[in-house]
Amino acid sequence: MNIVILSRNSNLYSTQRLVEEGRSRNHHVEVIDPLKCDIIIEKERPTIFYKDRLLDYVDAIIPRIGASITFYGCAVVRQFEMMGVFTICTSDSITRSRDKLRSLQRLSKAGIGMPKTVFTNYSRDVDEVIERVGGTPVIIKLLEGTQGLGVVLAENQNAAESVLEAFNGLQARVIVQEFIKEAKGADIRALIVDGQVVGAMKRQGKDGEFRSNLHRGGTAEIMKLNHDELQLAMKASRVLKLPVCGVDMLQSARGPLLLEVNSTPGLEGIEGATGRNIARSIITYIERNAISK
Ligand code: ADP
Ligand code: MG
Repeated sequence: MNIVILSRNSNLYSTQRLVEEGRSRNHHVEVIDPLKCDIIIEKERPTIFYKDRLLDYVDAIIPRIGASITFYGCAVVRQFEMMGVFTICTSDSITRSRDKLRSLQRLSKAGIGMPKTVFTNYSRDVDEVIERVGGTPVIIKLLEGTQGLGVVLAENQNAAESVLEAFNGLQARVIVQEFIKEAKGADIRALIVDGQVVGAMKRQGKDGEFRSNLHRGGTAEIMKLNHDELQLAMKASRVLKLPVCGVDMLQSARGPLLLEVNSTPGLEGIEGATGRNIARSIITYIERNAISK
């Protein structure tokens, strides 16, 4: 099979592992930078050029689209979809998952538990916003932040006010969220492939840090999910139509709560913590679903 990984950087662990596993199963795998693709739109004949090469032989794509290139990256993924190429996640589902508010709205409608969240345009009435999520401390986060950047813990009313003022001044859109203190600076990442959990880890933030992101110095260890956690993770993948994704949850007194769903989950942390071959699961998922030309 001809598999294309859409990634800006072929040296990344995740990209390399996917190349390695694809090749070990006798596929032709190449890494293509989506920003170097041209999209040709004409009647009944959507095509893509990579530099000066026509990409008309591709059977499946693995989009690894970074947050900073969502728009162009998704346009390239959409073009492959128009050409009938199998993708492990569609352009629409990537776009949807990038916006925390948009995803949470869909997930809450589907009955998934999450920290109480408020989105407001009207920033002057900070007291009321804080009251709505149950009082301080509160979490304030950028709608499109990643890697823990843009997530702030405001311990009291004054702090919350200044943070909201600062974000508003920058015209950045944020959500205000109930702070789940029982999580104790840890979260759970479940890796989903083909709608099933193929590995899970608990990430713990470094001392004094409420954010458990590995990019912020957190550490990870393998974890066995309980029934509720498994159900929540698989449901979130279903609702957002992301058969391959990373689902982040917090453990709270009222059960697991959904934080976010990542359409381009990193493989290094999860393969390291669980010892599982997640890259291979992704390749075999493609084998079961893509049609060879
Ligand atoms: P990012 O996309 O930047 O990773 P997240 O929403 O996943 O943003 O938040 C980063 C981390 O901050 C989470 O992994 C979790 O450890 C912590 N966190 C986020 N929201 C809450 C919350 N409501 N209560 C407690 N901790 C939180
Ligand atoms: Mg996160």
